[in-house]
Amino acid sequence: MVRTPLEREIRRLIEVAGPMPVARYMSLCLTHPQHGYYVTRDPFGVNGDFTTSPEISQIFGELLGLWAMSVWRMLGEPDVVRLIELGPGRGTMMSDALRVTRMLPKFQSALSVHLVEVSPTMEKAQREILSDVELPIAWHRDLIEVPEGPAIILANEYLDALPVHQVVKQATGWHERVIGLDADGEFTLGVTAEPVPHFDRLLPKSIKSAPDGAIFEWRDDLPALDIGRRVVKDGAALVIDYGHTQSDVGETLQAMKAHEFVHPLSEPGLIDLTAHVDFQRLAQAAENVGAAVQGPVTQGRFLTALGIDARAERLRMNATFEQAQDIDAAVARLTETGSVGMGELFKVMAICDPKLGPLPGLVSE
Ligand code: SAH
Repeated sequence: MVRTPLEREIRRLIEVAGPMPVARYMSLCLTHPQHGYYVTRDPFGVNGDFTTSPEISQIFGELLGLWAMSVWRMLGEPDVVRLIELGPGRGTMMSDALRVTRMLPKFQSALSVHLVEVSPTMEKAQREILSDVELPIAWHRDLIEVPEGPAIILANEYLDALPVHQVVKQATGWHERVIGLDADGEFTLGVTAEPVPHFDRLLPKSIKSAPDGAIFEWRDDLPALDIGRRVVKDGAALVIDYGHTQSDVGETLQAMKAHEFVHPLSEPGLIDLTAHVDFQRLAQAAENVGAAVQGPVTQGRFLTALGIDARAERLRMNATFEQAQDIDAAVARLTETGSVGMGELFKVMAICDPKLGPLPGLVSE
């Protein structure tokens, strides 16, 4: 194990307070105010650790800009609308989305932009890429800080970065998975002696009856409840992420460095940690506060329904041969099924005001 400054700090926390839940470990690794992964670096692109859809093609953000314009119309063209992005990374998606909104001046004049970001490093990158945008833009640490009123929320690969708890089924119940220290002082995974009280009360039957040893991952519902509350009246949120449509057992916590999978406990603070999104649980939380849910549909279907092929065709008309090949490759990567494509693993779900009809792209499968 590499001794990083964060590794030393976590080891000390464990020595003092005992084994640490996986969720707390993940949270410290990603967003520790001094050593957190997102706080200290820009992880995107060829020289970084991973790539996301908006970094693959400008078409992704452009289609989301069109989506936002349609939703604004469906909301009855309110005079003031907040376009909110959660975890905007480099700001590429917002930049591409705002470019297409220029064709609808009435929408633009209603628009203010709100970026919810914890990392000062990412915020700096966002300020740079959006420096030529002539719209009011505000940064927030939490969605709750964004002023009230009609809202359109976009979140791509945001929820997968939020901390995930793991519980392990045993004869005595579900036990929280924790990180402790072995005899040599190295991190080691274990479980708490006592089960989590009443943990399976709200679990679906299929998970309750999982065999001993099964791992179930869950996230704090608060972000989902906050999104639901924010859009339940005059709003819509679009959540795009990799994950499963039905809650299920299985471990999906994964770590990446330089586009390769690495062990999640190696190099704390220097690697990306994520886990799949449980869309069923997300939907339940949003519905719990009165919001409606549409989808999830696969990213491939969503982008196709929004017209990715026609948009690519337009771009190809002004492209060199090499550029045209790049456009084709990008569209394929965003929409294709299978292990390399992002079209099937990635899902798109809307959480919205129940008065809204079917939103663009969320055609049922
Ligand atoms: N949406 C972007 C970036 C995804 S990476 C894209 O698709 O390229 C996750 C983003 O969420 C980063 O900007 C990261 O700094 C931010 N982030 C991570 N944890 C967060 C939290 N708890 N609150 C707000 N933003 C967070």
